[in-house]
Amino acid sequence: NLLFSRALENEDATVAMGRQLADVLHLGGVIYLKGDLGAGKTTLSRGIVQGLGHTGKVKSPTYTLVEPYELERVNIYHFDLYRLGDPEELEYMGIRDYFSPETVCIVEWPDKGTGFIPKPDLAIEMRYVGDAREIAISACSSRGQELIEKLQS
Ligand code: ADP
Ligand code: MG
Repeated sequence: NLLFSRALENEDATVAMGRQLADVLHLGGVIYLKGDLGAGKTTLSRGIVQGLGHTGKVKSPTYTLVEPYELERVNIYHFDLYRLGDPEELEYMGIRDYFSPETVCIVEWPDKGTGFIPKPDLAIEMRYVGDAREIAISACSSRGQELIEKLQS
């Protein structure tokens, strides 16, 4: 299984990593983002969303569950399932309609939606290393493998 990891010494490095992901993700993909509160998941998402062409702010979807970015090049749906009570709520909001092969879907706290959200192409783990962070990205599909190969090249 392909794995990519890197130290992220500050917030700017996390945003830059997100932008690098955006460069390989323009054809779509599902990304699970795991890690403790404050680990940098939303910061990384900001880099991805802005890297794909969004010029405004990137809000955390903590209270709205999903923040849509329908851009010229691609549609992005950024989820945060942290406050989700019952995963069946995802069924009521029509979660599967957001996922299509050419869409970028970023899911923070995917474990809260187990069984109700599609499988990822990439699983990303962010963790604290002192005041800095570390990212580990693993491929979960053949598409995810291609994405990691492109990241490494
Ligand atoms: P999460 O979505 O995982 O809860 P956030 O992205 O909201 O976390 O980030 C929480 C804080 O961590 C923010 O203040 C952000 O500036 C900071 N941060 C992000 N990446 C890094 C990093 N590589 N090193 C130090 N601080 C970081
Ligand atoms: Mg967050």
